Amino acid sequence: MSEQDYDTLRIHAGYRPKEHLYASSVPIYETAAFGLGDAQTAEEIAAGVKKDRYSYSRVGNPTVKVLEDRIAALEGGIGAVAVSSGMAAISYAILNVAEGGGRIIAPINIYGASLDEFRTLLPKFNINFDFYDEVNDLKRVKQLIRPNTKAIYVESIANPSTEIADIEGLAKIAHAAGIPLIVDNTLPTSYLFRPFTFGADVVVYSSTKGINGHGNAISGLIVDHGQFDWTNGHFPQFTEDEFILTGESQDTSTSFSTKFGANAFIARIKMKYARLFGGTLGPFDAYLALLGLETISERLTKEVHNATAIAQYLQTNSHIEQVYYSGIDKADPLLAKYFPKGIGGILSFKVAGNEEQTKKILDQVKIFNYLPNIGDVRSLIVNPTRVTHREIPKNMLLRQHLTNEVLRLSIGLENVENLISDLDQAITKAFQ
Ligand SMILES: *Cc1c(COP(=O)(O)O)cnc(C)c1O
Repeated sequence: MSEQDYDTLRIHAGYRPKEHLYASSVPIYETAAFGLGDAQTAEEIAAGVKKDRYSYSRVGNPTVKVLEDRIAALEGGIGAVAVSSGMAAISYAILNVAEGGGRIIAPINIYGASLDEFRTLLPKFNINFDFYDEVNDLKRVKQLIRPNTKAIYVESIANPSTEIADIEGLAKIAHAAGIPLIVDNTLPTSYLFRPFTFGADVVVYSSTKGINGHGNAISGLIVDHGQFDWTNGHFPQFTEDEFILTGESQDTSTSFSTKFGANAFIARIKMKYARLFGGTLGPFDAYLALLGLETISERLTKEVHNATAIAQYLQTNSHIEQVYYSGIDKADPLLAKYFPKGIGGILSFKVAGNEEQTKKILDQVKIFNYLPNIGDVRSLIVNPTRVTHREIPKNMLLRQHLTNEVLRLSIGLENVENLISDLDQAITKAFQ
């Protein structure tokens, strides 16, 4: 997909104005249910034959559908499901591949709540994780594959270290073992990086972040590349007979893979996890994500520009011990290969001082908002070990170089000189 195509699709994909009274902005179908008409039509809607009709908003909603189709188009995937949060997207994607039990391989540099869920909650569902230290230690990943390994899970750009994952290398290892690569692409968004281009099979998002872009609603997305073979023997949930796909009125039985073919993964998320676990996205929040998407290219371009200038400024400040922003590491071959337009607006840095001084920086900033979010038009600051990653045991934090002196920034659209002055005065005061 060319950049020109991307810029057009983020505004038009998935929306046919003719079907919505030619409304220019995607309408918000704020309704719990939809009339079924006559009994014959009801039968067709319930069986999923009548694609342009809806029954109940937990099963499907026209506003949410535009978001799903738009995201699938932007990602180069065959389908998407919108859910109520990024954590719902991650949970459903993992459960859908490892249902009934199995193992997942994941690096420890992932988002705090993801690591917390993988360490402490999913094992209670018989889904266990093999964590490893360096995201691109491909030798280690290969060693960790066992007969009941169901997937490899990584973040394309890690939060908050901004390490770049070698998606192509990881996808090759996964495919050789007959398992999919699941990528959390929240930080760069599809504007800066499309994991499917390099062989990823499933992409998950916290669209709360860069996709929405305005910090006003929680939402999540799961996108399917449609290339993975779920009938290879590792994933019985796709090949076993499913009652809901046929129903009592028919005497044939079928499975998700037989009925949906390449769409089996996303169809199963929709019909099992979204519909039955129920963490679906509301139409108003879907509308806000769609509104945010309309400006994603311009926002991300400026956020990369601002973040680069801020990272360079921080590198020159003697009170800063280290800056973590892989976007300025020109010697890293992964940067040129995967992120020619930059890695995004998130960076972190380690203060050359103690935690008290680090806290003073948080107390002194005036433009930066101190809160746990990223990808907003406003610039944000947070101390991860005390807020976003506080559920992680210290030894695991240290393995990803996260100490109480590390601060994470999410750079917004303000004037970059103002942002630098704000940080500079806060750092100066913290060391007085
Ligand atoms: C925020 C975030 C999540 C969780 O998303 P929510 O929308 O808050 O549930 C997952 N992964 C990454 C990388 C995130 O930054």
